[in-house]
Amino acid sequence: MRDGRSVRRPVSARRAPDGATIACADRRRQDHGNTSALRSGIVGSGCMVSADRAGRARYRGQGCASADVRPLLNVGQGAATLLEFPTGAVLIDTGAQDDAAVRKLMDYLHEFFNGRTDLDRTLQQVILTHPHSDHTKGLREIAEAFEVKRLTHNGQRTGSGWPDVKWVLEHAGMSRPDMKILAVPDSAIPPAAVAPGLTSTHIDPIGAGTNPPACDPAIWILAGRVDAAHGWNAEDLKNVNNQSLVVRVDYGKSSFLLTGDAEAPALARLCDRYSNTSVLDTDVLQVGHHGSHNATTDRLLRAVTPKIAVIPVGRWDYGKEPPREFTTNAYGHPRKVTVDLLTRRIRGRRDAPITAMVATKARMFLRTTVAKRIYATAWDGNVVIRATTRGNLTPETRQ
Ligand SMILES: [Zn+2]
Repeated sequence: MRDGRSVRRPVSARRAPDGATIACADRRRQDHGNTSALRSGIVGSGCMVSADRAGRARYRGQGCASADVRPLLNVGQGAATLLEFPTGAVLIDTGAQDDAAVRKLMDYLHEFFNGRTDLDRTLQQVILTHPHSDHTKGLREIAEAFEVKRLTHNGQRTGSGWPDVKWVLEHAGMSRPDMKILAVPDSAIPPAAVAPGLTSTHIDPIGAGTNPPACDPAIWILAGRVDAAHGWNAEDLKNVNNQSLVVRVDYGKSSFLLTGDAEAPALARLCDRYSNTSVLDTDVLQVGHHGSHNATTDRLLRAVTPKIAVIPVGRWDYGKEPPREFTTNAYGHPRKVTVDLLTRRIRGRRDAPITAMVATKARMFLRTTVAKRIYATAWDGNVVIRATTRGNLTPETRQ
């Protein structure tokens, strides 16, 4: 499945004026899986980036334009994460809680492409973590409104979001024959000793363009659809959430992990696979399953060591009155036990504490002060993490 890009691609280095080494080649291939290299990082000498009239970043110097990773478009009880790089855009999940949230998502994407005319209304890649409607509801409209070059999904033909996926697969076959489709079973993920995840020009179609190679982001799939039990019981295996694609994104020294809605059995499998490596060690964790009690474990957090967590979740009163099933209120998301775990493991603090509604159980919420760098669409609206290749991360929230 690999496209020939070597995991151990050599780093071309040159001397900076101060004598430090600037690693300008594809360093991520080398240090993804090697803590010391990952932490040693790049010493740059200034980032000079301007935009031409089309909004295209023009490289003038030795740095890279920042990437905006929008882990949390505010789609209510759902997930949609836009990765904006200097040379392209990728969307991970296309969910929304209802039709109004789909319209909000579409408005956001139209506005985004209006500001990045150089991207020609093209998503280089859409990754669907799993076929549940809260991750797929906007897919059809997105595929109709924008050019979707590639679609990656877990290949399951079941779940509330399957009709959305099915429509796009059929659509791709008829009027968009150039849309490339990839389904990722877990058996396609190489052993950790061989490679730090699965990648290819399909999974990672974004290059550096005319920027230095260090500006080339990297996208890896760390887990796919599980077909055999591997110690799971029948219920774990049937649970679509456990079949979520897990995605790691690197932009120089900045790194992100998205676990879809993978629940504890899938997270245990993930941690087993990458134990004794730093593959899960990432700066920003998109918290799984909307902050549910069963999709964040202390073992995962010890492996990830996140600096920032972001939770894609609806407002606490969504589905409260009249009471409705399959809503934020009915599920009790995010759950206090998860927010407590994150609070314990994340060191950094928000600019100012926020008072948020956090659930102690289904339909039971308490006002809770969140002081650490835990962001959520329910409290913060759209969340943008501005990331530089040097590892500077700036969260911005926009209601
Ligand atoms: Zn979900």
